[in-house]
Amino acid sequence: MLVNGKNECIKCSIDNCAYHAKTDDYCTLEQIKVGTHEKNPVKKECTDCESFKNQA
Ligand code: SF4
Repeated sequence: MLVNGKNECIKCSIDNCAYHAKTDDYCTLEQIKVGTHEKNPVKKECTDCESFKNQA
């Protein structure tokens, strides 16, 4: 649920994402999708936020 435009269930520090709350380290989307670019993910570096969008 969004509170003051941010989703307090999704903390995020990627502030060059178009969906970052900017003033706070939260996402502004209702939900995100997490995925991987690896065939066999074994550490956190293998995971990606697939909802990321580069801010223009
Ligand atoms: S979409 Fe992903 S990367 Fe972008 S602010 Fe939300 S959680 Fe962070």
